[in-house]
Amino acid sequence: VKKSPTRKKSHSNDEAGRTSVRDRLRIGGRVELASIDPREVVAGPADKDEARAEIGALEAEVCDLHQRLWAESRHGGTRSVLLVVQGMDTSGKGGAAKVVDRLVDPLGFRVVSFGPPTEQERANHYLHRHELALPPAGGITMWDRSHYEEVLVVRVNDLVPADVWGARYDEINGWEHALADRGVTMIKCMLHISADEQRQRLLDRLADPSKHWKYNPKDVDERAKWADYQAAYEDALSRCSTDAAPWYVIPADRKWHRDWLIAQVLVETLRDLAPTYPPADFDPAVETARVRAS
Ligand code: AMP
Ligand code: MG
Repeated sequence: VKKSPTRKKSHSNDEAGRTSVRDRLRIGGRVELASIDPREVVAGPADKDEARAEIGALEAEVCDLHQRLWAESRHGGTRSVLLVVQGMDTSGKGGAAKVVDRLVDPLGFRVVSFGPPTEQERANHYLHRHELALPPAGGITMWDRSHYEEVLVVRVNDLVPADVWGARYDEINGWEHALADRGVTMIKCMLHISADEQRQRLLDRLADPSKHWKYNPKDVDERAKWADYQAAYEDALSRCSTDAAPWYVIPADRKWHRDWLIAQVLVETLRDLAPTYPPADFDPAVETARVRAS
């Protein structure tokens, strides 16, 4: 298995001695997707049942961290988390939403899916609809597709001239930088699948009537442009992985490993944020006495 030279080789340990999965996945230069094996098991369990068990074991911690973030925001905190998930059709964006949904506090979580912009959305700046879908203070929001489609599907299908999409990388970096300054912690995950795996998953969808709703005949047309999409992804990942908003490439041919990696990236990010419950603005002893006497 070839290792990508652009992914960091050294990895740091946190205070509890845990290796950072984020460091292993993070893009820090020019990336070649062909050098990242979509079947690679990057870290952690090499077995499905164990991976699922470890994800389950994170539920209490992630939920608690999220609840602290939410509680902070009720007392003036402005921090939030935005998880951007991109990937080719069938790469598992819906599966990622299910994993994250299980881990976080439902109170402050939502998923927003982005399809082709409506006529009205097209009349606005392309970032406008994304600005409207940002997480509220204390919230965790997942985007199933994102503003990156503006340099992916738009570029591959020539929906706007090259100089127009070409100017968007810098604009996206500027916008994401401003978001970071506003307290939005971005986690950008690219679910990296192989063309063979996509073929199999499309066939699986067709073989199962309960999956037909996920199948779109247009997916086969987009599949025919695989190389163009990979090149577009490489530019987006290489040009827009910044300290303010890093990109992580998630090997995604194995669903259980994809889920485990997403869970790790999320919990590591929340641990870093280290949200704390705000102190009470009343005297608990006095209030306890009042309730008892009531
Ligand atoms: P799905 O994720 O399967 O529901 O499909 C959503 C479709 O919307 C995909 O084919 C995307 O390429 C397309 N899409 C998302 N964002 C944009 C955009 N900004 N411009 C054009 N097409 C888009
Ligand atoms: Mg689809």
